[in-house]
Amino acid sequence: DSVLACRGLSMTYNEGQLQTPVFNGLDLKVAPGETVAIVGASGAGKSTLLHLLGGLDTPTSGEVYVAGTLMSSLSDKERGTLRNRALGFIYQFHHLLPEFTAVENVMLPVMLADQSVAAAKARAIELLEAVGLGHRLNHKPGELSGGERQRAAVARALANRPRCILGDEPTGNLDERTAATVFELMLGLNREHGTSLVMVTHDRRLAARMDRVVELIEGKLQLVA
Ligand code: ADP
Ligand code: ADP
Repeated sequence: DSVLACRGLSMTYNEGQLQTPVFNGLDLKVAPGETVAIVGASGAGKSTLLHLLGGLDTPTSGEVYVAGTLMSSLSDKERGTLRNRALGFIYQFHHLLPEFTAVENVMLPVMLADQSVAAAKARAIELLEAVGLGHRLNHKPGELSGGERQRAAVARALANRPRCILGDEPTGNLDERTAATVFELMLGLNREHGTSLVMVTHDRRLAARMDRVVELIEGKLQLVA
């Protein structure tokens, strides 16, 4: 049983004549409740791997399973639905919609999962309160601090009770103290709700707090700790 897995995963970017092989034949399995850090040099392919695991991009070859479902067996629409329900994404930059308030940003994925506006709003308020933003519900991203924006992004990632959160340097743009707060928030979700966590990070200290650290190096995944 895994919330997220890949087998024989290979990726080569093709741009005209230019081919960039990134990795070849990666295997990874993330168990329910497990936390995994992905480390590696800049350009090693960490973001590429995370995108493929999240079904945001299609591998050159190999298989990705999200909540036990083979992503390549789904239509684009089905893939989007599974992604929205089973996974939450947090990026280095929050990617909140600037014209929408915090509540509206968190409501969107809930509404996309066919919930009513009222249910989506109740859920969004509950989550924003849980991440300590109960006093910022109607603020737009531009009116929030960096840490507050990242916490809103965490709330949004949780909107549909995902089995797994994928983070691409989710604390990379924050000062050390704020980064620690956001990271603790993510670990807390893992402890309390059993949400798996797969996080790309440059921060070895944060990585060391996770169950497993894997390094992407020369196109291969190596267990570090
Ligand atoms: P990391 O996240 O470890 O820094 P990336 O996954 O971003 O690494 O990039 C891995 C390699 O793939 C790099 O050589 C990068 O230039 C290349 N790459 C990433 N995205 C694309 C793309 N959309 N098109 C072509 N090459 C890409
Ligand atoms: P509680 O004390 O109710 O568990 P939390 O502060 O942990 O509260 O979370 C607040 C709300 O957010 C709860 O309703 C909880 O269901 C929801 N929640 C937080 N994280 C997740 C998650 N990973 N999956 C599903 N729901 C979550």
